[in-house]
Amino acid sequence: PTVTEEKLMVAVRVRPLRTDEGPRIIHVVSDKMLVLEEEADNKRDVLRQRRINDKNYIYDRVFGEESTQEVYDTVCAPLVGDTLKGFAGAVFAYGATGAGKTHTMTGLMTRALNHLFTSIAESEGPSAYEVKMSYIEIYNENIRDLLNPSAGPLELRDEGSSGAPVVAGLSEVCAKSAGHVAELLARGDRARIAEPTQANQHSSRGHALLSVTVSKQEGGCTQRGRLFLIDLAGSERAGLRARRLEGAHINRSLLALGNCIMALSGGARYVNYRDSKLTRLLREVLGGRCRTAMVAHVAPGAAHRDTTRSTLHYAQRASVI
Ligand code: ADP
Ligand code: MG
Repeated sequence: PTVTEEKLMVAVRVRPLRTDEGPRIIHVVSDKMLVLEEEADNKRDVLRQRRINDKNYIYDRVFGEESTQEVYDTVCAPLVGDTLKGFAGAVFAYGATGAGKTHTMTGLMTRALNHLFTSIAESEGPSAYEVKMSYIEIYNENIRDLLNPSAGPLELRDEGSSGAPVVAGLSEVCAKSAGHVAELLARGDRARIAEPTQANQHSSRGHALLSVTVSKQEGGCTQRGRLFLIDLAGSERAGLRARRLEGAHINRSLLALGNCIMALSGGARYVNYRDSKLTRLLREVLGGRCRTAMVAHVAPGAAHRDTTRSTLHYAQRASVI
């Protein structure tokens, strides 16, 4: 099966400008378009009332720095609805370190779990549902259990009749309420591998993947839906020599993911999931008839022009059919 145009949503979110990152070079001009201002020697095109090198980018959605709830409503809420109906879905946060990925994913995770538990409570038979979650980090192609961080790296095995990948020994916790999940997530987040990339900035170097499985008993059958919320590792190139290996791994999975998403958005028949652990794990969403959303994150200041440009390009390549 191929994913149709509506199945992949590509959005860009611009975080608020900070005083230490120079003048604003990103301008959100509508809920689908933003402009990236290029260098200062940029000449004016008098007729078209714009600077010649400035570039417009168009996406399914563009979220400005004031955006909050609408990010959830647009990107994630429909997928939670799908999960309750027994389908799979995934939201990815892409972008350089400091661009706002974790901010977005923390908000989406909290809202998604609240939405899920509220919908179940309001359903006709809440007791028919069971919600399980797991939370892992993929770091240097090693899988760590964020809900059991003292365990060693976990193995990814292809098992079962469908050949679906299974993470051996992964803890799957029965989630009782949104509050319970928030506690588990906070614990997991503290276990994420973070180290200073700049003097006083901590960043997560691995991909964090929350998986929420919703099972529903119905007439002797079990219907199972799954939602993946993925906070990808920083997309910037690893500059320091000590980070070479790590950077290569990060880029490998981002590249593999990008290739899969692009192949799917182009309706390709064959996609190579085997290129990274991330794409192997996400095979059911990348390969099935599932809705997938990618939110690319950019900082609006001139100090980040190069990483911003490359993020905008990555997102645009993913959204081109
Ligand atoms: P990343 O995970 O991509 O490295 P973070 O989510 O940690 O980036 O964001 C970097 C900083 O910017 C954090 O202090 C975060 O709180 C802040 N921030 C990011 N996005 C927003 C936003 N949309 N609104 C307000 N603050 C934000
Ligand atoms: Mg982060």
